Amino acid sequence: MIDFHCHLDLYPKPTEIASRCEREGLYVLSVTTTPSAWPGTRSLERGHIRTALGLHPQLAHQRLGELSQFDEFLPRARYVGEVGLDGAPEFRHSWNEQLRVFDHILSSCSDVGGRVLSIHSRRAARHVLDRLSTRPDAGIPILHWFTGTIAELEHAIDMGCWFSVGPPMLSTKSGRKLVSRMPRDRILTESDGPFAQHSQQPLFPWDVTLAVKGIASLWNTDAASAQACLTTNLRILASQPPAVSSAAQS
Ligand code: MN
Repeated sequence: MIDFHCHLDLYPKPTEIASRCEREGLYVLSVTTTPSAWPGTRSLERGHIRTALGLHPQLAHQRLGELSQFDEFLPRARYVGEVGLDGAPEFRHSWNEQLRVFDHILSSCSDVGGRVLSIHSRRAARHVLDRLSTRPDAGIPILHWFTGTIAELEHAIDMGCWFSVGPPMLSTKSGRKLVSRMPRDRILTESDGPFAQHSQQPLFPWDVTLAVKGIASLWNTDAASAQACLTTNLRILASQPPAVSSAAQS
């Protein structure tokens, strides 16, 4: 099972969650919302858990000052996220800061040879794709919980984007329509827990089984076959990103 976007450090008992992920053999991308959270969140790594270095667009205006930490940690980070843009009305006040932060991050990623990026694009798909197109060497963009239009989805596919899909996307008609049009060889599952919920309960990484079932049904196949395809996708993705130099790894 694969949870390619969750916030392990934001669960009330992160160590217990991480240990269960390890016991169940889950592949987890634990994203962070601020650069300063990255070193501490890495201490949750065990089994197949990896930690992404991020600066969430909703915090861009408060954490601009942490971009220097982002650049300091980046050479040792193979994965970047959560980053991106949020065009919802309540974050419009920070739009300029969001652009500044996202552009800085894409430029830094391209300077270090590219990264795998888990990207937030709520109500900003067009702008995210626009910024990505200026930095094609920033790495491999994975659009998490994509909610753009079909035209934006097609543009993203043409640009080489991947997608991570969770249970909430598969529970709406518009979400299922988008997922059904995503290339089967560029999809991964995610929980986005503890923010994302199912039946009014925060999702856990192992709840990605719900997403696998939803994807299998869209593909007219069984969950085991869908899971096999997703696992192959992850293997291919993991073999693609530019290697972090062993000298820089700690
Ligand atoms: Mn998230």
